[in-house]
Parts: sequence; structure tokens; C-alpha cells
Amino acid sequence: MKVYLDNNATTMVDPSVKAEMDPFFVEKYGNPNSLHAFAGETHPAIKTAMEKIYAGIQADRKDSVVITSCATESNNWVLKSIYFEYILTGRKNHIIISEVEHPSIIATAKFIESMGCKVTYLPINAEGLIEAQSVRDNITSKTALVSVMWANNETGAIFPVEEIGEICREHNVLFHTDAVQAIGKVPISVQQFNVDYLTFSAHKFHGPKGVGALFMKKGKELMPLFHGGSQMGGLRSGTLNVAGIIGMGKAIEQAIDALDFEMSEIREMRDDFEDELLKIEDTFVVTPRNRRTPNTILISFRGIEGESMLWDLNRSGIGASTGSACASEDLEANSVMEAIGADEDLAHTAIRFSLSRYTTQEELDYTLEVVKKAVKRLREISSSYAYTPKGHESGLGLSH
Ligand code: PLP
Repeated sequence: MKVYLDNNATTMVDPSVKAEMDPFFVEKYGNPNSLHAFAGETHPAIKTAMEKIYAGIQADRKDSVVITSCATESNNWVLKSIYFEYILTGRKNHIIISEVEHPSIIATAKFIESMGCKVTYLPINAEGLIEAQSVRDNITSKTALVSVMWANNETGAIFPVEEIGEICREHNVLFHTDAVQAIGKVPISVQQFNVDYLTFSAHKFHGPKGVGALFMKKGKELMPLFHGGSQMGGLRSGTLNVAGIIGMGKAIEQAIDALDFEMSEIREMRDDFEDELLKIEDTFVVTPRNRRTPNTILISFRGIEGESMLWDLNRSGIGASTGSACASEDLEANSVMEAIGADEDLAHTAIRFSLSRYTTQEELDYTLEVVKKAVKRLREISSSYAYTPKGHESGLGLSH
């Protein structure tokens, strides 16, 4: 049996999304910016897709939703443009991010830090959550931007973006949120919440890879990073990814339609699966379920290297992860586990299971049996587990 439980890394393209994209490779391939009928053939579908994308996050017509190549681009754009506009010019000198942002935020923040920007990295608490108060405590009159993700890719922890948005509004500071893991998992409205910039990416909600977007509130348009064309109102040059935009439009529409299903049925399946996993001795989950996206479990099996567990799962046809997709080739400890202060041993034992609306009960039942066998086998050969008293009481062994 093949079981895909790595949906926070990427998702299957929904067949109806693919069907909607198909005509835009061979039949209707005109460049939408050309001045002939081939271009015109693409216009209605692009327009419809953009309407769906605006509706998907409840953007206003006057806001800008700019199509990019991926969330990594959108995240780079926000931080680098803020650097050029506010930091380099000396108007401000500081930004705030959380210490568990995706590498496309963390690495970009470190880059602009090396160019002279002050960066505050907000800690997460023992439950893997950000406290909105910590944003308030760190804002200064020189803060240009706060960037805190809507939901964490590893734990699924949902961060208090509504409160953080309010704090930013009070202090007249720009607020960006990376909503890559939130679309289709929690209700998103850029009208209801004070969000100036919002990043998302189609391949996380059953759309195609290589197409993302950046929402910018009316009047808050960022300086372009790509120059050379008039596409996207001059905000982001480059020939439009026509099929990608059409795919993202269809995918976001479906993700919003499936939101109730995700928040009820998928959540219930996830909870039952997690209950069963937690019956295995010496297992730990960090973030409370009601503070997590409905599809995600990050679970530690004491005494078992995450990579060994992945190996056993993979041999049985199951795809899971030890953390962020981008970091999964190196054998580093899970960064969120480290950030909460889990002891060294445990930080290496985290496995992420992320479900989708295509996950079936049969797949989860099968996975559970494979996990149980893997735990037994791997603990028998684990040197660290042998030294851990049975029924170890110290939980995560938090060092702070
Ligand atoms: N932000 C978060 C929270 C993510 O989980 C990911 C992908 O893992 C990204 C950004 C990067 O997305 P993309 O692959 O579209 O660049």
C-alpha cells in the first residue's frame, strides 16, 4: 500500500485542477500580454482565476494580489523590499519575525541583518505557540515590519495573527503573514484581520507547483523585486504562468469549499490517529490539538531517530517527514523541537504526519500498524532508549 502523509510538504494536484489547466499548454498558449487573438484566448480564464484567488482570501478589488513563482519568492519580496524602502533609507532600522518561520523568512531576515537591519526573533512557548504580547514588547518606534506565519509547517501551530495584526495597527507597523500552511485549513480573511501582506502557494492546497502569490493591501504596494515588464501592473515582471494561475484559481476555490470538511472530518481522523499513536509508550506531541491546523501531527518517539523511523515507513510505502521539506535532507534536529527547548535526544525523534482531504481511514489504520512495528524494532536496537527508564516521566525534558 502507498500512503502519502506529507501534505505539508506538497499535495497531489487535484485532477479537476489539472483538467482546468490542460488546455493552456498546447491549445491556448498565447502570451497574455501580446496584441493578437492568441493572447485574447487566455484572458477570460485568467480573469476568472484571479477572481477566485481574490475571493479565496477575501481580498478587496482595490487590493493587489500579485502572482509569484512560489511562497519563497513572496517571502523574499516582502523582507527585501522593506529593507530597501525603510532600512537602507534610514527611516526605520528593525523588523520582528518568529524564530520558527519557514527558512525563506529566516534566511532572508539573516541576509538583511547582515546588511545592517536589526532583527528580533520571537521565541515560541513550550506548546510551540507565539504569544502576541511578545510582539507588543518588542515593537519600537523604529520597527518597520512584523512577519509572523499564520500556521507553522511542522507542528501545525496556529499563531495569533488577529491579535498581532491589531498590535501592529496600534503601533503603525506593517504586518506580513506567511499563510502557506493556513489556506484551506483555517478560515482566512484579509478583510477581517489587519494584514498588510500575505503569502501563499498553490502546491500546498492541491494546486500546481511553481505558482504562489503575495497579497498587498491597497496603498501598501511594495517596491518590485523583478524589473523589466508591465505584468501584474508592473509589480512583478515576467511572462505570466497562465496554466499555473488558472490552476491556483481552481485549487483555492476547492480548498475554500472543502474547509468545513477539513475542519470536521479530517480533524476527526487526525485526532483518532493521534490518540492511537499516543497509546504507544513514550510518545509526545507538543501543541494542543485545538491550537493546530486540522491535518498535522508532530510526534516524538523517545529513543528513535526521526530518520530511522522515516526509513522504516518508507520501506512500507508511507511518506512522512521529520520536519520542513526543505530541511529533510540533512540530519539536523527538528527546529521547532529545539525552539521549545526539548532535550537533544527528543529533538531528533520528531515525525510529522500531515493529512489531506484525500487521506483515507484505511491508510491511517495501515500506517498505525507499520508505526507500531517500527517503534518496537527500532527501540530494540536503540542505545539511547535502553538507558531511558520505562514510562519516562519527564515528558519533553524541557530545558526552558
Ligand atoms: N512557507 C511555509 C510555511 C512553507 O511551509 C513553505 C513550504 O514548505 C514555504 C513557505 C515555501 O513554499 P514554496 O515551496 O511555494 O516556495
